[in-house]
Amino acid sequence: MKIESQEISLSLLKEKAIRLFVKRIDKMHPFIAGNKWYKLKYNLIEAKKQQKKTVLTFGGAYSNHIAATAFATKENNLKSIGIIRGEEHFRLNPTLAFAKANGMDLNYKSRSDYRTKKTSDFLVKLKQQFGEFYLIPEGGTNMLAIQGTVAILDKNDTHDIICCAVGTGGTMAGIINASNKQQTVIGFPAIKGIKQLEHDIRKWTNKENWKLINDYVFGGYAKLSDKLVDFIIDFNNKHQISLDAIYTGKMMLGILDLISKDYFPKGSSILVIHSGGLQGNKGMNERLGLSLPTNQYL
Ligand SMILES: *Cc1c(COP(=O)(O)O)cnc(C)c1O
Repeated sequence: MKIESQEISLSLLKEKAIRLFVKRIDKMHPFIAGNKWYKLKYNLIEAKKQQKKTVLTFGGAYSNHIAATAFATKENNLKSIGIIRGEEHFRLNPTLAFAKANGMDLNYKSRSDYRTKKTSDFLVKLKQQFGEFYLIPEGGTNMLAIQGTVAILDKNDTHDIICCAVGTGGTMAGIINASNKQQTVIGFPAIKGIKQLEHDIRKWTNKENWKLINDYVFGGYAKLSDKLVDFIIDFNNKHQISLDAIYTGKMMLGILDLISKDYFPKGSSILVIHSGGLQGNKGMNERLGLSLPTNQYL
């Protein structure tokens, strides 16, 4: 599928002689928007190949991966089980309401139990409770996911620099694998713990043309500052591009900040991957009384 890139027009970019493009993979699908579609693709094919009827996965209560998995499994006639971190709330937030409406069986684990989810004990208990299932890890990253995210770049993406937002690093690893060695892939982590991330990304790729920039984490995963919120709203007003508050907003703020500080050589062409995540803004708005832009479908 050919995905359009949209050029951003700003006096800052003219002044610095930088061209900035946004690849709108957030527009790929109304409900599995962005990188999660690529990450799920080969996992769902594999689940069917193994004749599994159920997919089980993990996530936080606002997880884009949980929402995407619920919808994508339903579309593929598979059942889904979501193991959700934290206790159940009487009223479901928008992410979990969406997952449930799409047939996901939601199961809550205390934070301490949730932390043990990679142990074989935990897996044995899940098998006892739910029977056979195809397991997709938290965030959706495994080898098949990375095979999928390779397709985020295509032969038209000849820009000098490719930027993406980073959670587990699976999306970035696929992009690195698809890049050529004249290009530099720059990842903007949304979470703390850069050493672990670098280690993981190295496992999934054998190229060296990448780096992580850790200066725009904004305190961690779901931490919002007024500066970030104002930036997202202003960016949407100027460019009609909605950014999410957890991943793509931080990245875009970081890129423009770096451009203003002459981080990139004059004449550079930068491609920013808009990995989606808009469903999360709805929950943020509800919880914090904000007016972040949301996906028109959700
Ligand atoms: C999940 C997600 C990411 C992070 O992807 P990883 O492959 O885990 O690094 C980035 N952007 C958005 C919008 C996401 O939903």
